[in-house]
Amino acid sequence: MKTTLPPGCAYRRDRLWLEEVPLEEIVRDAGTPLYIYSRARILENYQRYDEGFAGLAHQVLYAVKANSNAALIALLARAGAGADIVSAGELHRARRAGVPAQKIVFSGVGKRPDEIRAALEAGILMFNVESIEELQAIDRAAAALHKAAPVAIRVNPDVDAMTHDHITTGKKENKFGIPISKALPVFHLAARLPRINLLGAHVHIGSQIMTTRPYVETLNRILKLADTLEDQGVTLRYLDLGGGLGVRYKNEEPATPKQLAKDIAKALRNRNITLLLEPGRYLVADAGLLATRVLYRKDVGSKHFIVVDAAMNDLARPALYDAYHAVFPLHAGKGKRITADIVGPVCESGDYLARQRVLPLPEQGDGLVVATAGAYGFVMGSQYNSRPRPAEVLVHGNRWTVIRDRETLDDLVRGEHIPSDW
Ligand SMILES: *Cc1c(COP(=O)(O)O)cnc(C)c1O
Repeated sequence: MKTTLPPGCAYRRDRLWLEEVPLEEIVRDAGTPLYIYSRARILENYQRYDEGFAGLAHQVLYAVKANSNAALIALLARAGAGADIVSAGELHRARRAGVPAQKIVFSGVGKRPDEIRAALEAGILMFNVESIEELQAIDRAAAALHKAAPVAIRVNPDVDAMTHDHITTGKKENKFGIPISKALPVFHLAARLPRINLLGAHVHIGSQIMTTRPYVETLNRILKLADTLEDQGVTLRYLDLGGGLGVRYKNEEPATPKQLAKDIAKALRNRNITLLLEPGRYLVADAGLLATRVLYRKDVGSKHFIVVDAAMNDLARPALYDAYHAVFPLHAGKGKRITADIVGPVCESGDYLARQRVLPLPEQGDGLVVATAGAYGFVMGSQYNSRPRPAEVLVHGNRWTVIRDRETLDDLVRGEHIPSDW
């Protein structure tokens, strides 16, 4: 099976380029491991999403947790995206990157009191509320600040998104949202609480969803609920459909935003409701590469290992989800083809980036890129094994720029103290 090259990538005279830059040049200057993003691809993905929904009243909110680098949030904000945030940290990032408060929604099951206050003070579009106790806490916080709190209720529609167990969120046994069977009284409570301004309903059923069917099923359930509420005198202005649309890691054929919009449009006909959409992975995943260099090759008889300088602390998805990421050499060598596991230096057997891959036997020092690493890559990284986090670079045509410095050894120990007297 031939894996297609990442968007914007091509081999020219056997060297891998992204947009108009040879990747070897970036890697030589900025070092490895290194995250490299294509500005053009992020904008294309955003436009495809936004234009896919052009026929419906909507606002795209970038789910910042997928990749929270300031340059990427700012790029999407300038293109018109708002932000879906899950913490005060992400609120800080979104505001700093220029996202208007009125285009920010705050999701998550465990918002702290200080986070609720910060979001009320900023004047965000709305909170996506996940429990009765959270709703009451927001009401109290709003009263203390003499403000009204705009909210949507996150409903758990009990729909199977047919994705990986760890990233499905819309089944009734998941911790997220209020079970749809118990949701009506919560909407009524929200409508009654003095400081709560009930604006809508929210769902987010999972991630890496490949077909439109779970979305359509979810929408039908939510609209039924909305109709019941309408009959009881409660009108919803916003319907937040969450994110979760899948991308191609290997040879999948995920539904497109346009197909999704088309498949839900019928159910929405004649309704005066604005859709909110929260794509994360879709906007950034295939715009990102993780570049690394080969340290050592080992042939243990039964198999080959290629030990590289990137590891599970830099890209956790393979170790965490057994996720597949395609790997490409920076130099398309003619060498003998081998089947190998590509592994990092971290002291864990689970530390691998790719398993059983056929590729030309690389030389020590050769560069490789791990594809589709733009979402849930850098942000899920850690300093485990005291490895400074990698730098991040943005490519724009024939130019590239560092959008996050590589961490230093001093960064590793920042804030640590050795008590002097014990
Ligand atoms: C994670 C998350 C998203 C983004 O999911 P993707 O699969 O990256 O599109 C959107 N909304 C909420 C509430 C989330 O938790």
